[in-house]
Amino acid sequence: MPDRKVLIAGGGIGGLATALALAQKNVASLVLEKAAQLGEIGAGIQLGPNAFHCFDRLGVGEQARKMAVYIDQLRLMDAMADGEITHIDLGEAFRARYGNPYAVVHRGDLHGVLLKACREHPLIELKVSSEVTGYDQDGASVTATLANGETVTGSALIGADGLWSNVRRQLVGDGAPRVSGHTTYRSVIPTEQMPEDLRWNAATLWAGPKCHIVHYPLSGWKVFNLVVTYHNDAPEPVAGQPVSVEEVRRGFAHVCERAQTIIRHGKDWRMWVLCDREPTDKWIDGRVALLGDSAHPMLQYMAQGACMAMEDAVCLADALAKHDNHLESGLASYRDRRLLRTARVQLTSRAMGDHVYHPAGPHALLRNSIMGAKTQKQWYDTLDWLYGGNGLD
Ligand SMILES: Cc1cc2nc3c(=O)[nH]c(=O)nc-3n(C[C@H](O)[C@H](O)[C@H](O)COP(=O)(O)OP(=O)(O)OC[C@H]3O[C@@H](n4cnc5c(N)ncnc54)[C@H](O)[C@@H]3O)c2cc1C
Repeated sequence: MPDRKVLIAGGGIGGLATALALAQKNVASLVLEKAAQLGEIGAGIQLGPNAFHCFDRLGVGEQARKMAVYIDQLRLMDAMADGEITHIDLGEAFRARYGNPYAVVHRGDLHGVLLKACREHPLIELKVSSEVTGYDQDGASVTATLANGETVTGSALIGADGLWSNVRRQLVGDGAPRVSGHTTYRSVIPTEQMPEDLRWNAATLWAGPKCHIVHYPLSGWKVFNLVVTYHNDAPEPVAGQPVSVEEVRRGFAHVCERAQTIIRHGKDWRMWVLCDREPTDKWIDGRVALLGDSAHPMLQYMAQGACMAMEDAVCLADALAKHDNHLESGLASYRDRRLLRTARVQLTSRAMGDHVYHPAGPHALLRNSIMGAKTQKQWYDTLDWLYGGNGLD
């Protein structure tokens, strides 16, 4: 066991999962969170079977399974023609093949399960209002500097501080993230306000020219999560800004009536301009490592950012334990195990935006023709690289 605590910058899904994964290996940690309160913004999140493998390894499998809605399908709709292009069944055959279900959960519930487990674990300390602004290291320890001038010393520092990571700024120094020009608007509506003929037990994606709509049930079917995205070449990053329904509707005037109706039912819309980065192999600097969105921020089109952050956490703790807590070589081995898988998800997410979510005209017809012809077996074969094995060993 390292003689000092591991410092973790960021108490999001990645940071809390890291603290739990380390605790499973008897390693103590201190989570330093910038916000005054630990929590999550936004509503729904989709979780592939790989997330459930992680929950089990983090010791929260039972609690995580209780909060999930188990959907039957991933359904792809044509937002112009108002018809199904294809779907992927998530029933018995899927679960048997991948060893776990596909589910949707409320972000707050997911974060809450991780937070409760962290609070109850004697090896985990949580400290809020503690923004990590930089670090120094001397070969035996790392000292993180906080925004209030305080310093904290640990055996290692894990930068789980998200898209705008300060740890990454010092470690990689590659400037601001890439602004994708895609603007996402999020809302949650009570299930009774969702048009009755669209109350599907599916994660549904309506794909249209330069725009798409996603909806699925959440929180024991009490609400529907709506996420709609428009490729409007937005030039600046924005996070969580309230917007009017009229502004949201502007990007969807060209899609079919049924898809437009979903937007009309949304309320209290908030907007995010999406960002990602090119993959980098610079994840570590001596005793400092990046994890989750700080290491590999991605567009949400594979619904895998949080899943990847949890896989990172489990792999990091395994790698340190396998290297007998020799930190530098453990961290290098963690980077080597995670780099290509996360790069593939980052780049595939971007490609999905271009070729599945947003194409128009013949490009969209080609999508419909190729994706519509796939059998369930072919879909599962396509997904094996992501969900096959457990992504962890
Ligand atoms: C619209 C949308 C939909 C998505 N849907 C899905 C989905 O369906 N499935 C999925 O798996 N993923 C999804 N994602 C991605 C997922 O939300 C992120 O990948 C995931 O939350 C990343 O977790 P993280 O802990 O690495 O970073 P974050 O969640 O960003 O957490 C970082 C934490 O660090 C704190 N912090 C920031 N800077 C500092 C600092 N310097 N010092 C200390 N603390 C700091 C922040 O306050 C925050 O608490 C989606 C993302 C978006 C935008």
